Amino acid sequence: MTELVEPPAPAGAAAPGWCDRCGGSVAGAPHEACAAARALEPPRWCAHCRRRMKVQVLPVGWSAVCVEHGEIRG
Ligand SMILES: [Zn+2]
Ligand SMILES: [Zn+2]
Repeated sequence: MTELVEPPAPAGAAAPGWCDRCGGSVAGAPHEACAAARALEPPRWCAHCRRRMKVQVLPVGWSAVCVEHGEIRG
C-alpha cells in the first residue's frame, strides 16, 4: 500500500533538483557548504533523480555512477 513518493519533476527541466552531496532539495536553498566540499569530494547522490550513486575513487580522481543517468567523473 505504501509506495515511495517521488518528487514531481517539472517537464523539460534540465536543472538538477537535488544536492549531489547531501541529497537534499536545492530548490530555493543554496548548498554552499556542499558545493565547497564537492570541490574535493565525489558526489554521493544523483542530482537528477536522487538515487544513491556508486562511487569509486580512482588514482586520478573519482567516478560516480547513477544507474539511470550514467557516469560522472571528476
Ligand atoms: Zn547539500
Ligand atoms: Zn540519476
